[in-house]
Amino acid sequence: MAEKVVIIGSGPAGWTAAIYAARANLEPLVFEGAVTQENSEKGTLPLGQLNLTTEVENFPGWPHADVGALQQFSQSALPPERYGVLSHFYTGKNAHTGKRSAIGPELMEYMRQQAANFGTRIVTDDIVKVDFKKHPFTVTSLEGKTVDALSVILATGARANYLGLPSEDRFKNNGVSACAVCDGALPRFRNKPLVVIGGGDSAVEEGTYLTKFASTVYMVHRRDQLRASKIMQKRALTNSKITMKWNHQLDEVLGSDAKGVTGARLKSTVDGKTEEVEASGVFLAIGHTPNTDFLGGQLELNEKGYIKWVKAARTNTSIDGVFAAGDVADDYYKQAVTAAGTGCMAALDAERWLAEKGHH
Ligand code: NAP
Repeated sequence: MAEKVVIIGSGPAGWTAAIYAARANLEPLVFEGAVTQENSEKGTLPLGQLNLTTEVENFPGWPHADVGALQQFSQSALPPERYGVLSHFYTGKNAHTGKRSAIGPELMEYMRQQAANFGTRIVTDDIVKVDFKKHPFTVTSLEGKTVDALSVILATGARANYLGLPSEDRFKNNGVSACAVCDGALPRFRNKPLVVIGGGDSAVEEGTYLTKFASTVYMVHRRDQLRASKIMQKRALTNSKITMKWNHQLDEVLGSDAKGVTGARLKSTVDGKTEEVEASGVFLAIGHTPNTDFLGGQLELNEKGYIKWVKAARTNTSIDGVFAAGDVADDYYKQAVTAAGTGCMAALDAERWLAEKGHH
């Protein structure tokens, strides 16, 4: 029998859609993504981009609280195996002390659990193919499972971009990264200069985070003004460990196979002059690409490659019965809370669509 609603993706949009769909008795089936080497390298593991970040200070409902209280909350809210994923944030040498807001992985585990509590079924696998040309739709997973679906909510998010330099590729996992939070604490980055490329909130967040480990962080931005929000800008510009390299672009990552990254060649965007800086790591924070490859061109995308919402203030896509939520369809706001908001909208849109078609 066809599923009423299949949700693809497991960031804030996917789980919020699942919570609403489950509470509407739609018995949602969530494909949360697969745990594979490829997904790890691309930054597309289950629980999405928020799971790769540190503190989330702008998600409403999460003021600073004592870490001990957060630990108790996690232990109470989550089953032991999911709590285990988080325990190192509360105890051990890398644990926080004092007060803080929720960190990304906590928030994501709570959302996942909330969806599970209302009966959401969760499959830890990727959807690699969809067929939206016939109804019920079919979706096929990496492990070869095919599921029929009356409606589908796409919430696969976006992944970090790279510049596409061959040297960047050569040193991936050997000093080049697009995730400071995942890799920043590695021994190779300790007490060494590091380079961050980009001028948005991610670049500032990554740069600030890396000052915990680095001797100096060079923030390389192609313009003379940061795109990041004012509060984040202030954080970077007043941090004595951050040196701004305005009007520069990464020209080449320098290093050897034996040592990995040893430096970066930077090129002025004003006069084309190059300079080399010593660095043991280069972190890219230059925006994102929506995860739409598995759609095989069956849906209309906008000019930036994001799924197009075809009705104002609705999550409908160009295929009737397929809805999109979160960063995969949002090239503008891209916030955890807006993703959650559109996840809610997609579930309500799907519910009403199913009712209209007499499926519910
Ligand atoms: P973003 O805001 O799109 O910024 C990307 C940055 O990379 C820009 O500064 C851009 O330069 C630069 N860039 C893009 N392509 C480049 C290239 N080819 N070469 C060199 N530089 C390049 O992306 P983001 O920082 O990942 O943030 C995405 C969204 O998430 C934003 O809405 C942001 O507010 C949100 N976010 C929020 C937080 C937070 O609030 N704590 C944290 C992280 C992200 P230009 O400025 O010259 O275009």
